[in-house]
Amino acid sequence: MEHFICTGGCGGISGTPGVCQMDSCPHHGKDLVSCSCNDGEHSDAKTKAELEALRETEEGYEDTNKDEA
Ligand SMILES: [Zn+2]
Ligand SMILES: [Zn+2]
Repeated sequence: MEHFICTGGCGGISGTPGVCQMDSCPHHGKDLVSCSCNDGEHSDAKTKAELEALRETEEGYEDTNKDEA
C-alpha cells in the first residue's frame, strides 16, 4: 500500500501526501516521497530521493560550467 515518507532522517511517515512536520529534521517543510514498499525499508522512496539529489547536483554542476565558459 502506498505511503509517504520523509527522507531527511526523521523517520516521518504518512498515509497521505504532505510535508515533513518535524522541526528538527533537515527536510522540515519539504515534500514527503511516495513509497510502496512492503518491508518497511522504504527502499523505493530512498532510491527516488537519491536520484533526485543526484539530478540536483548535476544541474548545479552544469550551471557552474556555464558561468565559467
Ligand atoms: Zn523529516
Ligand atoms: Zn516504504
